[in-house]
Amino acid sequence: MTPVATLELRPGKERSLQRRHPWIYAGAVAHVIGRPAPGDLVRVVGADQRFLAWAAFSPESTIRARAWSFLEHEIPDDAWLSARVAASVARRAHLTRRTDAIRLVFGEADSLPGLIVDRYADQLVVQLMAAGVDARREAIVDALVTATGASRVYERSDAASRQREGLPSREGALRGAVPVAAVDIIEDGVRYQVDVVRGHKTGFYIDQRDNRRRLAQLAAGKRVLNCFCYTGGFSLAALSAGAAAAWSIDSSAEALAVAKTQQVLNSIDSPAHWIQGDVFDALKRFAADGQRFDLIVLDPPKFAPSVQHLDRATRAYKQLSLAALRLLEPDGRLLTFSCSGAVSVDLFQKVVAGAVIDARVDAQMLERLAAGEDHPVSMTHPEGEYLKGLLLARL
Ligand code: SAH
Repeated sequence: MTPVATLELRPGKERSLQRRHPWIYAGAVAHVIGRPAPGDLVRVVGADQRFLAWAAFSPESTIRARAWSFLEHEIPDDAWLSARVAASVARRAHLTRRTDAIRLVFGEADSLPGLIVDRYADQLVVQLMAAGVDARREAIVDALVTATGASRVYERSDAASRQREGLPSREGALRGAVPVAAVDIIEDGVRYQVDVVRGHKTGFYIDQRDNRRRLAQLAAGKRVLNCFCYTGGFSLAALSAGAAAAWSIDSSAEALAVAKTQQVLNSIDSPAHWIQGDVFDALKRFAADGQRFDLIVLDPPKFAPSVQHLDRATRAYKQLSLAALRLLEPDGRLLTFSCSGAVSVDLFQKVVAGAVIDARVDAQMLERLAAGEDHPVSMTHPEGEYLKGLLLARL
């Protein structure tokens, strides 16, 4: 592959690329020399014409290009792309001892900007979120099949970020048939069913794997409340580990139906209450009824899609943690999460501290929680960190 164009930055705008941040904003670009198509490889140079990066051009996006590589001799041709995909897959190989649901590629963090790949047993699900990876779909799928031996690849490029790249949403089978049934996976001994076509994200919250395990370690004999349960991942992990009973709340009837099927699949006989409804209302009802729990999980949807929503989002996070703390038995544990990238670890901790104060309880932070290691954060692209959680003990 030969570069078709050069992107020349404005004077003083080279610093971000020199610091290995992969995004080149439209405002940093002085000229585009040549006529690159969306996704084409471009050579990025500073105002002094010195090489800075090889990047993928994205004419519609405010992120005008995303860097593939910062080394001039490392031209990102198909062989290079294939090697990078293979390396990303290989870094996760040890996780197969625990699970067959693994995020194989996590975009910028794996130096493959815009590419998400999840593996569910023999089924791969691909999300192409930027023009660069969209244009190289075929080479990426070939590389994935070679690296994994998987026989089915399904594309779910349906995220809002596609619109910002000027790309239509795209779904369908890239290899093998369109999955008609849910895919069975096993994580830490628990069976789950993943609907890769209709489920959230690519079908399952793979990112919560370690936190499901953490909950399971605490669960024996406990009364568990799982808020925003989706298909019941946390509940099933806790019940399989010997929780006395679990109450799980979600607004989605479809998600709860999957949860119930999975309960049967795992031969769980302990009481499991699947409650369809609004979590905010349900927490009020539990308080009014004098119900108490030993372990509470709060894993709400993204309340702050961007910094503009921070105020409302932090109020909602606080309200939830406050309501949960009031339902927690002394010596109970709360796992409270935010998956809003715009809410930093520090801010989230402050918000939860505010809830502790308002609840008039003493609480300790036992651990900070995050996404599993297959969702790493690039040291030079900290924006990639989105999932934060705290494990609190109520004294
Ligand atoms: N904890 C889940 C993922 C949660 S995703 C897991 O580990 O798999 C967020 C979930 O919240 C979605 O399933 C969505 O249906 C649900 N939801 C969103 N707003 C809600 C509300 N106000 N009350 C109840 N459920 C809600």
